[in-house]
Amino acid sequence: SSQNLDGHQPNIIAVANQKGGVGKTTTAINLATALAAIGKKVLIIDLDPQGNASTGFGIDRSKRKLSSYELITGEADIAAVLAPTAVPGLYIIPSTIDLSGADTELVTMSRRAYRLRDTLEFDPSLGNFDYVLIDCPPSLSLLTLNALTLAQSVLVPLQCEFFALEGLSLLLRTIERVKSTYNASLAISGVVLTMFDKRNRLSDQVAKDVRGYLGDVVFKTVIPRNVRVSEAPSHGKPALLYDHRCSGSQAYMRLASEILKRERKAKAA
Ligand code: ADP
Ligand code: MG
Repeated sequence: SSQNLDGHQPNIIAVANQKGGVGKTTTAINLATALAAIGKKVLIIDLDPQGNASTGFGIDRSKRKLSSYELITGEADIAAVLAPTAVPGLYIIPSTIDLSGADTELVTMSRRAYRLRDTLEFDPSLGNFDYVLIDCPPSLSLLTLNALTLAQSVLVPLQCEFFALEGLSLLLRTIERVKSTYNASLAISGVVLTMFDKRNRLSDQVAKDVRGYLGDVVFKTVIPRNVRVSEAPSHGKPALLYDHRCSGSQAYMRLASEILKRERKAKAA
């Protein structure tokens, strides 16, 4: 949907699930890092007022001036809000607490579902990136709607727990509604199973059920529950910088390769 002026079109992926704590931010951070490690130029947009993606890259709250909020309001462009990360080739647009008011403000704005797209679509800086990952808040709010209206695809992290599928149908219905109203070309880039615990038979059963229900849209790569992954943000680092050999980091590298492989397949088809 997004066509940059010089013709280079980054792949814009919204990482979304209205459930909190399912691994959206962890996936956005580590998938972005893995893609950058492969040599891609990547931008993360932190669209959650909680700002966990920004904190996860060690970006101090006090140092965040402009943020994704100014993109939504159209007060700033990418170049003005961009911050580098410790990962070469990976940049972030942080979120600040301002964003927590955005949902209410958006209600009264014109083109309220298109604000992000309106600001970014013709921003020349977008041409510098191969991937843009949007870390969505844990709701189907106007912020998430803005991400889905801009994106080419949605990546859905799904936690391997008993109620994993609950709420998924609502998310899928929302995606259908966005397609029919705001963004006809929106696709599901895939569902990734997160926090998989191989010692837990429930995890295994959930994985089987989800694959049975959703089929090939579920990535082969499964992200294991891994303590190194959960420790990394408190050090202000992606897991791949904190401990690149841990099982979680390795899984995110495999997820990045799987995404590239799917893209090659889609292009060849
Ligand atoms: P969301 O963004 O969907 O709310 P997070 O990515 O913040 O979810 O993850 C929720 C919590 O689970 C965080 O404390 C995070 O560190 C932890 N977590 C996420 N993925 C893993 C994993 N693979 N192994 C261990 N802990 C994880
Ligand atoms: Mg989050």
